[in-house]
Amino acid sequence: MSLVKTEAIVLRAISYHETSSIVRIFAEKSGVVSVIAKGARRLKSPFRGYLEPFNHVEVIYYYKATREVQTLANVELLRAYFADFPDVDKLLLPYSILEYLEKFTVPGAESREIFKLVTTTFKLMEERPEMMELYFAQFLLDFSSIHGYRISITNCGNCGKQVRRAYYDLKDGKFYCDECSYLVEKSFIFLDSNVLRALDYLARGEVEGIPKFCNEKDVIRLIEFLMRWIAFHFGVKMELKSFKVFSMIKRA
Ligand SMILES: [Zn+2]
Repeated sequence: MSLVKTEAIVLRAISYHETSSIVRIFAEKSGVVSVIAKGARRLKSPFRGYLEPFNHVEVIYYYKATREVQTLANVELLRAYFADFPDVDKLLLPYSILEYLEKFTVPGAESREIFKLVTTTFKLMEERPEMMELYFAQFLLDFSSIHGYRISITNCGNCGKQVRRAYYDLKDGKFYCDECSYLVEKSFIFLDSNVLRALDYLARGEVEGIPKFCNEKDVIRLIEFLMRWIAFHFGVKMELKSFKVFSMIKRA
């Protein structure tokens, strides 16, 4: 048994027995980990109030390779993200990020880069909630790049011609130009020149410039494309609950 000290983001906590909680965390040093916080729901527990989703904490836990749930020894709160957000609707995209961490990251793996991406994204979302959708898109693009799936849509996947707009085929994960679009199966996402331009801006870290030429519909399409791209390349079938609710609200 060894002690691990690491910064982490709390993903969720579930009640366990009378007074304890099992907490899923995304740890900078060890990826997604489950820890048991013994007595966490007692009034006088030193853990109380620290184990809420979005909290940025520093934890110390006992690690044993043969155990699925590790034992929490200490937790300190560094920052509570979104604590002042009045509206649950506004938290749907941040919750989507927590879902990404749970589903798409490797348990036990060192995750410094992703961790930094998450805390940076949360900070930006808090500061400028009106830009939340675009920061989410930026998160998706960077998340994909860090995992080695850089997005480059310059040429048609069939004829090689340069594209100014493209059809993204959900089955084979390729991009097609107008002339070759007859090859595209039923399921595709059409990426018009605005969406391609937005992707280019994201890749250059110029997210602030995107609202000048993209409307809300373009941004939703951009996000949908990025989510499908990640699902395709990670080979994970996903049904992100938070995003589903989010896009339903937007369409209503
Ligand atoms: Zn073509």
